[in-house]
Amino acid sequence: MARSTDWLPSLWMEIFNDLLDYELDNEDPWTLHFNYSITDKLTAQEKNRGWKICCTCTQAEFKCGSCGKTWFSARVTVLFRYRLRRGRGTIIMRPFGQSCLTCQDEFDLPGFARKTVEDSLVKVFSKIRKNCYMENDDNNDIDAAPSPRRYTKPHKSTLCQACKEGICKQDDNDDGTAG
Ligand SMILES: [Zn+2]
Ligand SMILES: [Zn+2]
Repeated sequence: MARSTDWLPSLWMEIFNDLLDYELDNEDPWTLHFNYSITDKLTAQEKNRGWKICCTCTQAEFKCGSCGKTWFSARVTVLFRYRLRRGRGTIIMRPFGQSCLTCQDEFDLPGFARKTVEDSLVKVFSKIRKNCYMENDDNNDIDAAPSPRRYTKPHKSTLCQACKEGICKQDDNDDGTAG
């Protein structure tokens, strides 16, 4: 049984495949990939090739690879790049890590709850409907019911990989334009 602190690409894949038919009602095949070095800055060439950005802020649990300490964070960045080209859809995601307050060494990758994965993917699918299929989504601006607030310590930028790369923020409302 996987622990909630484990980074599990397979969980994302599973939920992605579960949601796909329901969320994107069309014939185009979409696939989800992982890349641990993408940024939110698209080059002109990438934009021309149709890449768009969706940056989400969500919550996750971490476990230090050195001392085993676990912690919860309500400010965990997950970055998506997506595009629809020649009838094929591609989504690339990157979770951003955090490092342990005690050890302050490497960044550990986040472990997500199933519900969090669902909420994040629903958000990306909503962006895709809007930006790749030009659908007017009634729910587009309605956020999912907020999760119960959990107490977390103030966000420490020095321990956050997304802060280090300058993309950590509460959430985004943009339409793929880097801003
Ligand atoms: Zn540690
Ligand atoms: Zn941060």
